[in-house]
Amino acid sequence: MNVAVIGGGYAGMAAAVTLAERGVPVTVFEAARTLGGRARRVEHLDLALDNGLHILVGAYGETLRLMRLVGASPERLLLRLPFTWCIHDRLTLRAAGLPSPLHLLAGLMAARGAPFADRLSAARFVLRMRRRGYMLERDTTVTTLLDTHGQGGPLNRLLWRPLCISALNTPPEAASAQVFLNVLRDSLDGDRGASDLLLPRVDLTRLFPDPAADYVRARGGAVLTGHRVTAIDERESGFSVRCAGQEQTFSHVVCALAPYHAEAFLIGISALAEAAEAVGRLSYQPIYSVYLQYPVERGLSAPMLGFDSGLLQWAFDRGALAGQHGVIGAVISAEGAHQDLPQEELARLVHQELQQQLGPLPEPSWHRVIAEKRATFACTPQLKRPESRTPLRHFLLAGDYVASAYPGTIETAVRSGIGAARLILERRDS
Ligand SMILES: Cc1cc2nc3c(=O)[nH]c(=O)nc-3n(C[C@H](O)[C@H](O)[C@H](O)COP(=O)(O)OP(=O)(O)OC[C@H]3O[C@@H](n4cnc5c(N)ncnc54)[C@H](O)[C@@H]3O)c2cc1C
Repeated sequence: MNVAVIGGGYAGMAAAVTLAERGVPVTVFEAARTLGGRARRVEHLDLALDNGLHILVGAYGETLRLMRLVGASPERLLLRLPFTWCIHDRLTLRAAGLPSPLHLLAGLMAARGAPFADRLSAARFVLRMRRRGYMLERDTTVTTLLDTHGQGGPLNRLLWRPLCISALNTPPEAASAQVFLNVLRDSLDGDRGASDLLLPRVDLTRLFPDPAADYVRARGGAVLTGHRVTAIDERESGFSVRCAGQEQTFSHVVCALAPYHAEAFLIGISALAEAAEAVGRLSYQPIYSVYLQYPVERGLSAPMLGFDSGLLQWAFDRGALAGQHGVIGAVISAEGAHQDLPQEELARLVHQELQQQLGPLPEPSWHRVIAEKRATFACTPQLKRPESRTPLRHFLLAGDYVASAYPGTIETAVRSGIGAARLILERRDS
């Protein structure tokens, strides 16, 4: 048995670590020079930025477990904050010091910035969903769900809408209510720490993919960066993988590419036509990140701050988080008119909105806009996503888009990688 893992994002590295842990020879092919895929380091001047500012939460149990396994201590590399939802000058909601789910319900009732009736209605809505086991008879949009349960007041704009966009990267009008409830369930009904926010203190490649690669190599595996796979073909003995004009044969393939890259390989193998079709049906949502360098003494009142503003949704204080003093990273998730703006103009508008919200700021000395146009799949109602298992016994899919109850996140990617590796291990051990 020898396994080719195609793609060195979080899904591919999770698969590789799980296989290497059990002594399976594994080779990871990653096209880019930097591991991490859609959660990777981007060098700018002498700073390690990220392609996108990421939030993890305490419920990311498998990501945290694998980080520990490869020696990347979550306690050291992530800033853990009890759940706080702070929309600048509008709403402050903090988890109370109570057991789950009271910590969030009490926090909601005590939130500052929304009328009492609105808070009560929101708490009732949550309790109603909880009594139903967070299950809908038929999936619908988040907007329909919220309308049906009278969630149209200020908390709609300050809590439910931004929560939906942050968690599903899909506007509530188009987002799956069932997936939204699954996320709510995990935060409310997990243990108290499940809703904690975990903010990276290092770049996203250092957080897991790089230590994962060290772990795989130390167990005899190979992690090849700058190696773009150009063909995968079925052979009698398994699969041939072509890369840089050379062919290697493997008994198994874990295809851990982003869906829009996986499709081309799936189309080429007739038994995988159905998976190719399922991937072809997915649509995507963008995430834009705007980094601005202010004088080193400037920062935010919190490491992460929300805004009820035209463009700006969240801003991160990279000084407080990663020692990059004066760097503010702003996030704009999901589709919108900002996609039509030139990057220069987008940076100018973000700077302007920060000033409107926080008071006068000097011109930033540099800015960097990173547009991820297909950041995640659009998490819409009743979406049929491809399974990890394919009709080819030894060819498995991994990635944040593979069938699961969750939206496209780091944890979904990691779980899918572990899942694909376990399917290989089960068959070996049976
Ligand atoms: C800007 C942004 C912000 C986000 N924010 C959050 C967040 O706050 N919290 C959260 O949990 N998630 C967030 N996500 C989602 C999260 O990053 C993704 O769900 C996750 O990284 C997907 O991992 P993956 O391994 O499935 O796919 P990918 O990361 O896309 O990995 C696929 C890999 O395959 C490689 N590849 C492509 N073609 C080839 C080839 N031919 N040969 C070899 N390799 C190839 C790519 O270079 C890439 O490294 C965000 C995503 C983006 C883009």
